[in-house]
Amino acid sequence: MSDKPRVAFFDFACCEGCQLTVLGMGDSLWEILDQVDVVTWREAISEKSNEFDIAIVEGSITRDSDVDRLKRIRERASCLIALGACATLGGVHVLGNRFDRGELLELVYGKDGRHFEAGEVRPISAVVPVDYLIHGCPVNPDEFIAVVTHVLLGRPYHPPNRSVCFECKLRENECVYDRGQICLGPVTRCGCNAICTSFGRRCFGCRGLIDDPNLNAARDVLEEHGYTIDDIVGMFDIYSLASSPAETIRAK
Ligand code: SF4
Ligand code: SF4
Ligand code: SF4
Repeated sequence: MSDKPRVAFFDFACCEGCQLTVLGMGDSLWEILDQVDVVTWREAISEKSNEFDIAIVEGSITRDSDVDRLKRIRERASCLIALGACATLGGVHVLGNRFDRGELLELVYGKDGRHFEAGEVRPISAVVPVDYLIHGCPVNPDEFIAVVTHVLLGRPYHPPNRSVCFECKLRENECVYDRGQICLGPVTRCGCNAICTSFGRRCFGCRGLIDDPNLNAARDVLEEHGYTIDDIVGMFDIYSLASSPAETIRAK
């Protein structure tokens, strides 16, 4: 029997785009797969096993049955990695927590919708301890490799703690504020190589807030371009970055 670490992928509520991103990594994925035995990965293989060392978990927790399943995964894994914004932050569907769940189910599925099990949306760290976070919607393949490499070496991985603006400036992008758009780059954790703003789109904050966002600078950028905090509050909601950053900026 192989003595390589056994890896299992799991998914909860999500679009599975992060697993697809990993599957689409090509040669760099095969290099990593040489170092491990993948024993469960519904998107890629038919085999399944309850014996694994490293669990890579995508998606957010929405049901009581999810809680039980996630706890069983945690008990079996010596290392648990949260894969993507749904797992690390709860994902865009945390927005549903603001509404009556029964009404939402009926709106989407019709009158029988209320029979579905669906509750508060939570990141997986709200239910079990998480050892490693891979941010992003979807994840950055280079960071996936970096995190798995650190896991295999038994070393902690610290996600970059600079703003997306840092990477955006390195790429010499035109700032979207100068084109009349609002961007969360000043307070969002980098590590995506500013991929959205490099393609002319604004940053929606999918990698979460940096640890100590420079809220004064963020407010100055807004004011410099003629915006108020109220113009940006809705963007904080998309990845449930909480009302606190906006409230804090407003209070200063
Ligand atoms: S983080 Fe984004 S891409 Fe990944 S599973 Fe969630 S919604 Fe899909
Ligand atoms: S605000 Fe957005 S577009 Fe402007 S520099 Fe920062 S990340 Fe780039
Ligand atoms: S630019 Fe912003 S929204 Fe786009 S991937 Fe990076 S952190 Fe996510």
